[in-house]
Amino acid sequence: MHLLDYSSADLRSWCAERFGAGYRADQIRHWLFQRRAGDFAEMSDLPRKLRDELTDCCQLWTADVRAHRQASDGTEKLLLAWPDGETIECVLLREPRRTSICISTQVGCAMGCAFCASGLNGVSRNLTTGEITEQMLRLNRLLGDDERLSHIVVMGMGEPLANLDALLGALAGATDPKGLGISARRTTISTVGLPPAIRRLAELNVPYHLAVSLHAPDDELRNRLVRVNRQTGIEEILAAADAFFQATGRRVTFEYVLLGGVNDSPQHASRLAHLLRGRPALVNLIPYNPVAGLEFGTPRPEDVREFADVLDRRGITTAVRKRKGDRIDAACGQLRRIVGEGQSVTVDPP
Ligand code: SAH
Repeated sequence: MHLLDYSSADLRSWCAERFGAGYRADQIRHWLFQRRAGDFAEMSDLPRKLRDELTDCCQLWTADVRAHRQASDGTEKLLLAWPDGETIECVLLREPRRTSICISTQVGCAMGCAFCASGLNGVSRNLTTGEITEQMLRLNRLLGDDERLSHIVVMGMGEPLANLDALLGALAGATDPKGLGISARRTTISTVGLPPAIRRLAELNVPYHLAVSLHAPDDELRNRLVRVNRQTGIEEILAAADAFFQATGRRVTFEYVLLGGVNDSPQHASRLAHLLRGRPALVNLIPYNPVAGLEFGTPRPEDVREFADVLDRRGITTAVRKRKGDRIDAACGQLRRIVGEGQSVTVDPP
């Protein structure tokens, strides 16, 4: 049994059935989510017999930490290998006013973004709720006693909206005040833009923050950069994003990876402004983080500035994302490609 696959209600029923004490579930979850426990033995307010029994019947951690990298800016990255040998990455980011984790939802990705390392070999499988939760708890365990997680971004490997059920299960634990206690508003789900799933998210009416990876102002260019766009098209994505805003009252962020000489001219910026005009949108510009083996390059700093200025002048709220953790290959799917199968690098289990 992978304990982290259980919702709090299911764990309660399981504990009630097995130990005749449903409330034990709350104690276990308190230890895991709030006290950052590493095993059942630490759960000192559980009877020893129960702790032993849990150790025998439940698997708490299922991943093997293949690599743990730390950058001087405080960014830490884990490469996790699941029992089937598949690997994923997750990241802890420390900034002055926020401490965030970035988590993965799939092994690989099927969306086919031409510049992204995660999808180069397609998708192998979805991650389970337990596997997504395990990333959150392992990263949480890297924090010092005086540190606390404030934000979650679902921007790791995979397309979150292609594995929405498993993700929502994990986020329920993250946002539960008795879980990690992170507010839905500080939880960002980043999607390539799958309209039916965006509408489903809108109908749930939970105030998660939605980010749509746009990367191009027109279908001609977007079809080349984001293969899945050929089946959807930008208009349909924007209509779904509008529905999300109407349902939740939350402004949608549009992410735009700036690829040098490809989508970063002032004309592209102007067309983007035209596309988003009248929409309560935020634009997040992300200078490309080069991926070995791909021909895309980082934009020139002056082009980034000019692009942002064009949007600003057209009244669109724009931010340029700082690059963090370059040296530890923190961008999605990069570390995984460098650390080969079975190779063990600076293993430092949480
Ligand atoms: N599939 C989801 C979430 C994962 S990627 C999505 O498409 O949004 C999170 C963001 O990082 C996306 O905007 C993605 O396009 C961007 N990204 C991927 N590779 C990158 C790279 N090498 N440099 C900069 N941003 C990258």
